[in-house]
Amino acid sequence: MASVLIVGSGASAVHFALSVLKKGHEVTMLDVGHPKPAALNPDDSVNDLKARLSDPVRYFLGERYEGVVYPGSKGEYYGIPPTKHYVFSPPTAFHVEATGFEPLSSFGQGGLAEAWTGGAYPFNDHDLAAFPFRYRDLEPYYGEVARRIGITGANDDLARFLPLHAHLLEPLALDPHSLRLLADYERQRRDLNRALGCYLGRSRTAALTRDTDDRKACTYRGRCLWGCPLDALYTPSLTLKECQRYPGFRYLPNMYVSHFTLAGSRRVGGVVAEDLARTALRELHADTYVLAAGTLSSSQIFMESFLKATGKTLTLPGLMDNRQILIPFVNLRMLGQTYPPESYQYHQLALGIEPPRPEEYVHGLITTLKAAMVHPIIHSLPLDLRTSLFVFRNLRAGLGIVNVNLYDRQRPENHLTLRPGPGSGRSTLVIHYTPAAGERIAISRAIRTVKKLLRRLGCLVPPGMIHVRPMGASVHYAGTIPMSTTAAPRTVSKDCRSHDLDNLYIVDGATFPFLPAKNITFTLMANAVRVAETAF
Ligand SMILES: Cc1cc2nc3c(=O)[nH]c(=O)nc-3n(C[C@H](O)[C@H](O)[C@H](O)COP(=O)(O)OP(=O)(O)OC[C@H]3O[C@@H](n4cnc5c(N)ncnc54)[C@H](O)[C@@H]3O)c2cc1C
Ligand code: SF4
Repeated sequence: MASVLIVGSGASAVHFALSVLKKGHEVTMLDVGHPKPAALNPDDSVNDLKARLSDPVRYFLGERYEGVVYPGSKGEYYGIPPTKHYVFSPPTAFHVEATGFEPLSSFGQGGLAEAWTGGAYPFNDHDLAAFPFRYRDLEPYYGEVARRIGITGANDDLARFLPLHAHLLEPLALDPHSLRLLADYERQRRDLNRALGCYLGRSRTAALTRDTDDRKACTYRGRCLWGCPLDALYTPSLTLKECQRYPGFRYLPNMYVSHFTLAGSRRVGGVVAEDLARTALRELHADTYVLAAGTLSSSQIFMESFLKATGKTLTLPGLMDNRQILIPFVNLRMLGQTYPPESYQYHQLALGIEPPRPEEYVHGLITTLKAAMVHPIIHSLPLDLRTSLFVFRNLRAGLGIVNVNLYDRQRPENHLTLRPGPGSGRSTLVIHYTPAAGERIAISRAIRTVKKLLRRLGCLVPPGMIHVRPMGASVHYAGTIPMSTTAAPRTVSKDCRSHDLDNLYIVDGATFPFLPAKNITFTLMANAVRVAETAF
């Protein structure tokens, strides 16, 4: 039985931990780990909350109105609600500087996916071409993660891009607008497939449509954005709770990890963390060390370890993120209908665009507007407030947004490095990102195709409202310590074991050598389970 020390409690960390615990190993998990507040009035719908909470304004907009998205907020159509602020609040010693990139980090229990929208899309062999394994090597672990967390999906037109793994649950009930879009697609699908290369189908969503032991099936209460009170929508803190049932598991929150100490030139000797409750440094020891603190933090800890040991500042090239484009639309066929506030809030449909070259696959998530914070939409209409309100109320049932994702590949100019802090203090994480030369063309092509598709489905894209999100906004960070079949420095093996330090594994997005247009988290979890199952 080995002692394993894991940094982080996000999606990557908890699935890795659960698998090694099941094999009988002892696990210590170090985490900053701001805890999730308890859900209020769990049986209430979103509208019940507005009526029944003693202070609904505070719940929805925050004590200092921090949930308000103010005009001029660079075209974002929703903000992070106050109930999720704990996910993103950093320790005071965390410093980051970025050019060309807007990074988002989590130090919450469960990590960034405590605030995710649950899109769970498996990579296929084209997506995995640069990885040292194939889809069939990952498939059992996609099935295992789907069994653990619950993923809905269907064998539809998207199966050509999204392989069908085991344990898919039946899809969620469609809201009327999504139902309409799908019916209109199905009527013309051959033509849309042939003329535009567009395929539409059901989202793969990490939400339950069946009760399990501890979690309830979705009851369509429309509270997804503020945090599902029934745990129907999966978040990693649920798997953390499962880990806590094992006697060999020790969870240490309030521990802000700085670096590893080295034992000789090729082994980690210990991990140094600041105990935030006591403002004291601690060093902990284990047989094997696992970095799963998210690509940015894992890379920072890795670089800080070398800096402390050798005085040398590393640069890690190859940072990737998906460029996202938000394309709002109005479905003219839904005019005059009422909107259903009690619905699953996030995307229920997805689209895939067949590319000229397989790695250029374009992936889109279609979210119809149900319950949401609507003020960012109203203030972004190019009209005065009174007219905007009038227009919004009349169009509401037909409003939606396509979130288009583009692939990214490793390029040396996109890198992470450190600027050493004063004395022995913490370094600043420095990030630099420059888009690829042909990116503008890829963006324009994707927008053109999606607009044509929407037109065929009876939808208009209002002029001036398409928003190309900044790099960093998709929060699918990857590529800085990639898997490699050659034992080069600053890479890991097929089993995600460091080629620099023999008793160190890295099991988050840092190890991905390519980033397809698909949301990354399902593959992070499946890969972490693969490493735990094959290397431990
Ligand atoms: C609004 C939003 C929506 C999203 N929607 C989707 C989606 O639909 N589908 C999808 O696939 N992905 C989505 N994502 C992305 C997804 O959340 C991330 O890919 C995923 O959470 C990454 O998991 P991770 O475990 O690798 O890292 P993280 O989630 O970043 O977890 C990092 C963990 O490490 C801990 N940690 C970090 N640094 C330290 C340190 N120095 N010391 C100790 N502990 C540390 C943190 O406390 C945290 O527990 C979304 C993200 C956001 C923000
Ligand atoms: S609609 Fe969202 S918040 Fe409500 S039960 Fe379903 S997943 Fe949870």
